[in-house]
Amino acid sequence: MLLLGHVGYTVGGGWAARRLGVRKPVDFRLLAFMAILPDIIDRSLFLLVLDASSGHLIAHTLLFQLLLLAVLVAVRREFWIYGVASMLHLVLDMEGLSAEQAFWPLLGSDLAHIGIMDADIVTAGQPFLERVWDRLGGESDNYFDAGAHALLLDLGGIVMLLVFAGTNRLYQGRRLLSFARDGRSPSTSRGQGGTRRPVVGDMQSPGLDDL
Ligand SMILES: [Zn+2]
Repeated sequence: MLLLGHVGYTVGGGWAARRLGVRKPVDFRLLAFMAILPDIIDRSLFLLVLDASSGHLIAHTLLFQLLLLAVLVAVRREFWIYGVASMLHLVLDMEGLSAEQAFWPLLGSDLAHIGIMDADIVTAGQPFLERVWDRLGGESDNYFDAGAHALLLDLGGIVMLLVFAGTNRLYQGRRLLSFARDGRSPSTSRGQGGTRRPVVGDMQSPGLDDL
């Protein structure tokens, strides 16, 4: 799935969660980052470091996602939503993942299940920069080769992102700036524990958290 598709579905999910009763404020910027964190980790490893066969590696496993969720909750209980955002990435990518990868190491601990291969098989002595270039090309080819079903799924996420931006009037410079600053509301911010702290201009424009 395209990165924007991931961001769209996850931001939409976080927005729905706020409307359905999640009381703690949500930083939608962080939510968007967590939506693509598995790709940031695994594609960076694939491009630059590991002798790997694809951009789906350790961060595309349930084990990694559960550990991440546990760490986030240990840091601060209300951070669970960011762990779930990263886990949602795995769900959205599920079509392109094998069961052996998603549930690694439960169905076999072989590192090949999570795309980590023998260096001789993958690189065959290929120079580093040439390998990075080849892999970048392979990643972009994946997008162009994606079927109609995958593209429609991506489109759904992008539409969700547009609805989010439109409904919250992020096309207005002041609201967009406010959103970029605190990740929550163009016109309000909340202190610890969800206490609303009004700011100038609050009367005219409800914040993201109010919509
Ligand atoms: Zn992914």
